[in-house]
Order: sequence, then C-alpha cells, then structure tokens
Amino acid sequence: MSTTVPQEHEYDLVVRGERVLVASGEQPREVGVSGGVVRAIEPLGAGLDGARVVELAPHQVLIPGLVDTHVHVNEPGRTEWEGFASATRAAAAGGVTTIVDMPLNSIPPTVDVEALETKQKVARDQAFVDVGFWGGAVPGNGDELRPLWDAGVFGFKCFLLHSGVEEFGYLEPDELEADLRVLADFDGLMLVHAEDSRAIEHAPTPHGDHYDTFLASRPRGAENVAIAAVIEAARWTGARAHVLHLSSSDALAMIRSAKREGVRLTVETCPHYLALAAEEIPDGATQFKCCPPIREIDNRELLWEGLLDGTIDCIVSDHSPSTPDLKDLDTGDFGTAWGGVSSLQLGLAIVWTEARTRGVPFARVVEWMSARPAAIAGLERKGSIALGHDADLAVVEPDTAFVVDPKALHHKNPITPYADRALSGAVVATYLRGEEITYDRPTGRLLSRGEA
Ligand SMILES: [Zn+2]
Repeated sequence: MSTTVPQEHEYDLVVRGERVLVASGEQPREVGVSGGVVRAIEPLGAGLDGARVVELAPHQVLIPGLVDTHVHVNEPGRTEWEGFASATRAAAAGGVTTIVDMPLNSIPPTVDVEALETKQKVARDQAFVDVGFWGGAVPGNGDELRPLWDAGVFGFKCFLLHSGVEEFGYLEPDELEADLRVLADFDGLMLVHAEDSRAIEHAPTPHGDHYDTFLASRPRGAENVAIAAVIEAARWTGARAHVLHLSSSDALAMIRSAKREGVRLTVETCPHYLALAAEEIPDGATQFKCCPPIREIDNRELLWEGLLDGTIDCIVSDHSPSTPDLKDLDTGDFGTAWGGVSSLQLGLAIVWTEARTRGVPFARVVEWMSARPAAIAGLERKGSIALGHDADLAVVEPDTAFVVDPKALHHKNPITPYADRALSGAVVATYLRGEEITYDRPTGRLLSRGEA
C-alpha cells in the first residue's frame, strides 16, 4: 500500500486495487470518496483523482467495513469489563466500522429512553467506530418499547431464561408473545436469546473444571425448545424475530421450514461456534465458557452447512468480556465462571481461517459479517462498497498469518480462547467515512435507526 497526494482533488480519497470487493465480487476497481460517501466505483485504470490516493498491493483486498451487531460494551456500570473506547478501538483494528451495543451488562440496562440517553452520553466522545444501540425487552417494560424505537434503537433483545445479571429479567412465553404484538405494530425487530428456562432447570448443574459437565448443563434441547417457541410466536404475531448466537445445529431443520413457510425469522451464529469444539476444550479453560455453549465437532460442521445453504443469515461476535477474576481461572470452575467469549478484534480472521480450509471464498465470509448483519439491523448505508453508502472500508491481507497475543489486542481484558492460535487474515487499515481510523482521535458517530 502506498499513498500519494496530488494537487487536484476531484475526490477526497481514491482507493485503487486489483481486488476490491463490490456487489459482483472481487474486481479491479477505483473507489472515489467525497464527504465520507462512496461517489464513484470505476474500473481500475480510470484514473480517478483524489486529494489522497491509496494504491493497494496485489495481495490486499478492499472490503466494506464489517458490521458487528452483537457487542456487549458494558459501559457505564461495568466499565472494567469493557468500555466504548477499548471496544471501538478493538473493532477498528479488526476491520469493524459499526457496532450495535447490547442492552445488558451495562448499568443501567437499555430498557427505557432515559437509560438509552445515559449510554449515548457516555459513548459520544469516545467512539472510534460508529455505534448503534439495541433496546431491551424485560418484564414490565412493554410500554417503553415504542418510545425506545422512536428514540432510535434498532430493535430489542430479550431472554427466555436468567440473563446472567440480576437487573435484566427474562420474558415468560406469554410476555414474549405480548411484546411481539407490540413490535408488530411498528415492524420492530425482536432479538431472542433462545434457551428455555425450564429445560435448563431440569439439566444437571454445572460444576468443576471438566467442560463436559458444563456442556451437559446447557443441552441442545434447551435451545431447540426455545427456538421452536420463538418461531411459533413470530408466526402467530407476524412480528420479525431474530435468533441470537445459534449453537444447536438440531434447530436448523425447523428454522429452514419456518423460513420456507414465510415466518419472518433471521438467525445469527458466532465465530466460536464455527471455529472451536467441545472435544478440544482443556480442563479448567473457562475462557471458552459461553451460553449457549460451544458444542461438538459434528455440530460445528452442520452449522457451516447451515451458513452455506442460507439457513443462518450472518456471523457476529457476541463479544462479552469480563474481568479475569470473574472467569475463575484459578479454580477453572465452569459452574461459577462468567460466561462470555471475547473476540471482537479477531472475528474476521477466525472465520476466514476456518472458511478457507473448507473451500469457502473470502467474499462470502465478508458478506456474512457486513452486508447481512447491516440488512438485519436496517443499517441502509453500511455493509457494502456501493454508491451512496458510507465510505467505511478496510484493507485486508487474507494470506497474511499471525499468532494471537491477547495482550496485544485492544480488548480491555487480555482473556480470549484464541490465545496463541495462528490465524489468517490481517487487517492493515480501516477507514470510517473515508478517513483512516487512528487510535488517538475518536471519529465514530452514534447511529439512530432510520438515519444510518
Ligand atoms: Zn450476547
């Protein structure tokens, strides 16, 4: 990559490369950016001139900035777990230019407009990438959903079992149905953590340092039952529902049939379900603990099939860090450790490293992590290199390998199950609205539904 600064400037920025990922795939293109927006996409050689010109090397690919719609920033309230500055730096370093923050683990949780405004105020001056917010649907806040929607949240998250934090309650089946009816009125989106409360209560209690006991405590059946309930509630109400972090491949068949029947359902999975496997998790390695859990190798391969056939729509991180003490690494007790995996900065490399061994093209990986989540959240100007879209871009070297050093990541706490793993796919530069992101000056904006 080299940069020259000519005198004339038809565009603020021009990026030229043999491999530019546009709607038709990787093409030799020149991209012209003015006012932070993509204004021209021409064949390489067209000679667009810009105040700044970036020439990509043949091994570099220009991709749309990734969109990660599942990030727990935790600020305010649990800022020692993660915060807007650290999370958005990590995002930028990973080629992610938009995150949408989850309504829980921060205090207050985003369950009314006042809490949303509190979060926005905290995030405003320390965002290195663009930040949107999900609202929360909890028992008793049905009257807050419409005001939150009007205030700009992109949709709502709910749980069907204990969320892990006391201040964010879970919905009973009747409450889920009632909230979906509220959302159907304004075509709002409900995101569901789909594990069934009763099924988990009947499962064995997790304890000790063997991963198997934790896996048995979060059986596939608990996910399957909950996803079936979400599908039927979406069918009855006509509302849009989104299954968060799909782990159980058993559910793919019913998701397939629900989609075929016109139920308004979308589904995400996460890098850890696609790259890791229960059989390979060492005793006491609680950095691998998350809910729903990482399952067996055969399950992982079926999730890949679900992605390839379109049953699963997108891949997002579910970045959910905590401080090291809460991971109970000294005892390695899977029963008491905080559940959550940190991976925000590494998502693209994790998924691409797995994809390439299965013959899946780089362009598909990028689509699952940019255009797809952007479409689900309704982020109309994000997720693609296209005329009129925000010039959110990343330069990636798919064949460049690196070894994960947790201490070198921007995540606030250096705990990740990917420590010491060799990954392919280095992000060498990230641009937000046509400006390269530097790590000293936050230029991210807060996004509201309908305006992004
Ligand atoms: Zn989550």
